[in-house]
Parts: sequence; structure tokens; C-alpha cells
Amino acid sequence: MSEPWTCPFCALLCDRYTVAHTAPPALVGSDCPRANDSLRHFDLSAPPAASPLVDGAPAALADALQAAADRLRAARQPLLGGLATDVAGMRALYRLAAACGAVVDHAHAESMQHGLRALQDRGQYTCTLAEIPERAELIVCIGALPGEAFPEFWRRAVRDGSPLRKVVFVGTPADARLRHDIEAESIDIDLVDALPLLNALVAERPVRESPPAIVALADALRASRYSVLVWEAPRLARHGALAVEQLQRLAGELNRTTRAATFMLGGNDGAATAQQVVTWLSGLPLRSRVARSGLDHQPLRFGASRLLADGAIDALLWVASFGPQLAPPDVTMPRLVLGHPALAASCSAPDTIFIPVSTPGIGSDGHLFRTDSVVALPLPRLVDDGLPTVARIADDLVERLG
Ligand code: SF4
Repeated sequence: MSEPWTCPFCALLCDRYTVAHTAPPALVGSDCPRANDSLRHFDLSAPPAASPLVDGAPAALADALQAAADRLRAARQPLLGGLATDVAGMRALYRLAAACGAVVDHAHAESMQHGLRALQDRGQYTCTLAEIPERAELIVCIGALPGEAFPEFWRRAVRDGSPLRKVVFVGTPADARLRHDIEAESIDIDLVDALPLLNALVAERPVRESPPAIVALADALRASRYSVLVWEAPRLARHGALAVEQLQRLAGELNRTTRAATFMLGGNDGAATAQQVVTWLSGLPLRSRVARSGLDHQPLRFGASRLLADGAIDALLWVASFGPQLAPPDVTMPRLVLGHPALAASCSAPDTIFIPVSTPGIGSDGHLFRTDSVVALPLPRLVDDGLPTVARIADDLVERLG
């Protein structure tokens, strides 16, 4: 049995459970399916049998690093993508981006953009995860089912003695993982209709027709002394920034007379961390180019899938250290993958260099930012897996690039 541990497998970063060193390892103290599914990809009893690959052939680490540096040096416009790593890894990747003039974009940046664009346009009212069980009387999940992708959310958000009276799900069924002693209601309505109606009703603007359940919800929001509007970044449609803007407007209107905050669930696989680190190092968010000529932020043009579709990059460095799920895109350009050892099988193509790296919180120590982006938690390792960290590899590449 290990010491208390911080789980790195979603951005809630639960730090109240332990891990049994069984085969496969198992979470103790929670039935979280996401954590247990992720732990299956690790063997804590033996170091991973993985070696670097250069174009499908096993290679010494130094040779793989030199080949990777040569390919990055030859590229006119590289992209550092995936970026599933911890704080130290992301800091080193930023230095690497500066050394080769790369664009940086996280695998989940598209969904993170919704909140970012709304923040840039309108500002935001948010709360921390710790505030919810202390203060929330009413939680409204806007198109969100937290228990599916963030299975421990309700245990973190509700506890005995919480002031919470009710949870309302707008646009989804009630969440099966919500405590059964909490009153729940589900309103079957499209968010495109629900959000303008709620805004108008809360602001007491005339509304021609509204479902009675939405009228009742608007009344409940106005009567509640503290409401939290929960939304889930990955569940929002492509133009989700408009929905988030409406949510922020709703929170703003409520804050004229009572208290309300929004709470975003998202930022998995180090996305919240990558956004924080790039912003504090450069003053600009993800989807920026870090070139000698200066910084350039293009929220649409520098999205990884758009850069790939436009043929605007000629080398890809992909980072996926938390597991094999975040596979690198299939591309016809030099591809450098720093990944979980199980990704080796999909990284044996020509023009691909694969370097297995340690997983923060499993085989090496690290830090990650939580979904609310205000708390960075330490990730003590479960074992020493002997693999290099992303930070070590990126720093080595910086040195080789001079
Ligand atoms: S909810 Fe997320 S952080 Fe918590 S145990 Fe499950 S996967 Fe890990």
C-alpha cells in the first residue's frame, strides 16, 4: 500500500486516496473508473521494458535525442503538440519552443478555448473546487454530467453538512453519480434556448414564452444565496465560447443581488497546466508561436489540427506522458513522440522518433494544476520507473539545439 497519492488522471487531482501495488494497480478508497482504467496501463512491480525507437529501430537514448534535435533543427515551422505533461515538463517544452521557433498547442486546447475567449471578451466569475461544498446552496449543471468524465466530482463538491439544497441539470439527465440524498431535477431543453431565457428571466426582462421549469430555475437562482453554474469544456459544441459568455453574463446579473459563480470542468492531461505555464512564461496563452523574432498568438490559426490540415508545419513533437490514450496524429512529416511506453507500438513508422518517458505521479514526482487553475498540487511518484522525464528530454534537446 502506498502513501496518500495525487491522482493525475483527470484535472480534479484527487489527493485523498491510495494505490494498492497489485497487478494491475488499484485505487483504494474510491471506485473511480477513470483512475482504475488509467492505472491498468502501469506495472509497479517492474521497470517498463521500453526503449527509444528511431524510424522503427531500437536506439540508444543519446542517438534518439541527437536524431530528434537534427530533425527539429531542419524544420522551418515545428509544432509542439499534445503537451500532456506536468509543470516542469511544460516549462522545459517552452524553452524548447523558444529554441526552435515552435508553435505550442495542447491536445485539449480547442475546448479550453471556450472559457478563454469568454474571459478575454467579458471577464469571468469563478470559484474554486474547495468553495463549492462550503458555500453552494444551488448547483446548476449547464449541459454538464460531471460524474462521467470527472467521476469524483460529487464527492468533492458535496459533503455532510454542506449548505447544498438542490442540483439542477439543464440539457442532460440527472447524473447517476450524484449522492441520492441530494434533491435533483433535470430540465430537458437545448442550451441554445435555455441560456438566453435564463438571462432574460433573471434580469427580469420580458419573455414571451418560457418552459415553467426554466422560470422556476430563474426564481431559484435569484433566491439562492450562493449558486454555482457548472459547465464542462469538452462537452460544449464548437462555438461554445458564446455559451460560456452567456453563463458569465448570468453569473454577473445574479451577483447584482446575491452570489453566483461559474465552475469549469476541463483541463485534463495537463491542459490546465500547459495553459498556466505558457501564460506565466510568455504573457500569452496556448496557440502561440515562440520565435526569436517575438511571440505571436493566433487562437484559430495556431490550433494543431488546423496547422496540420493547412500543411503549415513541417515537424511535429508530440507529448503524451499520462497514458497511451492520447496517440499522436498520423502525419507525413518528421514526428517526434515523447510518450507512455505503450505508445511505442503506434510509433514505429519511418520518420518517427519515439522516446518513452515517465508519467508524473506514477514513475516520477511532478506537479499539475487543478481544473480551477488556482491550485497546483504535488504528484508524489508511486515507484521510480527509471524513465526520463519530459523535462529532462526537452532540456537535453535545448542544449543540442544550442
Ligand atoms: S476523479 Fe479524476 S482525479 Fe479523482 S480519482 Fe478519478 S480520475 Fe483520479
